[in-house]
Amino acid sequence: MAGGTEASFENCIINQKRYLRSIRYDIVFMNSILIIYTGGTIGMIRDEESGALKTFDFDSLIHEIPEIKKFKSKIEAISFEEPIDSSNMQPEDWMAIAQTIYDNYNQHDGFVVLHGSDTMAYTASALSFMLENLNKPVILTGSQLPIGEIRTDAKENLITAIEIASTIKNGKPAVPEVAIYFEYDLYRGNRSTKSNAEDFEAFSSPNYPVLAEAGVSLKFNHSAIYKPNDKNLKINKFSDNHIATIKLYPGISEEVIFSIINTPNLKAIVLETFGAGNASTQLWFINLLIVAVEKNIIILNISQCEGGGVSQGKYETSSAFNKIGVISGADMTYEAAVAKLMYLLGTDLTTQEIKNWLQKPLRGEITL
Ligand code: ASP
Repeated sequence: MAGGTEASFENCIINQKRYLRSIRYDIVFMNSILIIYTGGTIGMIRDEESGALKTFDFDSLIHEIPEIKKFKSKIEAISFEEPIDSSNMQPEDWMAIAQTIYDNYNQHDGFVVLHGSDTMAYTASALSFMLENLNKPVILTGSQLPIGEIRTDAKENLITAIEIASTIKNGKPAVPEVAIYFEYDLYRGNRSTKSNAEDFEAFSSPNYPVLAEAGVSLKFNHSAIYKPNDKNLKINKFSDNHIATIKLYPGISEEVIFSIINTPNLKAIVLETFGAGNASTQLWFINLLIVAVEKNIIILNISQCEGGGVSQGKYETSSAFNKIGVISGADMTYEAAVAKLMYLLGTDLTTQEIKNWLQKPLRGEITL
């Protein structure tokens, strides 16, 4: 736990990301939370001329939430020098967030990452694989309306995310994992997906229970929360993006599949299939998948359905997959599948070892 009584503001460069402000209050702090501001609607402002939303700086954002001063936690913040719309997030940015958490791990009890909602589930999934042996909360949040707008959801999301990150149970963090907090629900990061572009309730976690609900009090679903080990935090780098997605649709052509599997240096394909992992049994399709597997390309079967998952062999239309060596992604989200592949392909594991790990939970992302 951290304690402090100082009152000061700091402005220095750490790992190319700027410490815009360090807020400290004249009390003995219960614990210490680091906010990492990456951008997103939460910190956007409407351009008067065009009406389009554009990012603004963390200083302006934090001024909109005076309530933050009421926390008994020491709250510090680090901001991306250029806050971004999360559609521009790249694996290098995931790495910068993970590195910031790693570098500041011992000084803080929890982390809140302010992030655009569009790709938040990808970042949360990636962080879960990058931060091995995590035993402190990393809570991602954002908002559907900018913080300056009257009906904004940003204040509640940020304030509750800080509260969750600072909650201690039996002397340990209540949520020692990467999670997303949005509109009264806390979700496991690598189980969540952005499922609504309009409602304040933008996220869902169709195959895993919510980790906590925020009502008058915070109700934690302790049995669903990750049980960490006590090893030291380790950071895994994301170095391989040689993957592609084939989202099946009735009428997909041989030319399209042929050109994807012949992409130079391709190492894996996420095959988005129908229902419980089914696909056409047309011979040309099966033959192309066989060619891909022979080229050592991993094919990971993920269902297009949000709820439920792949059950290869349940129908005749998925039996061939077992024979060919297509890997079942079971109930993994698309976002977790992409992040897990990028992570595993960047390790020195063999193709067979990667195939084995794809079918087992590394951070609670898949139900066995
Ligand atoms: N386009 C925004 C972003 O993802 C949307 C949001 O923040 O909700 O950065």
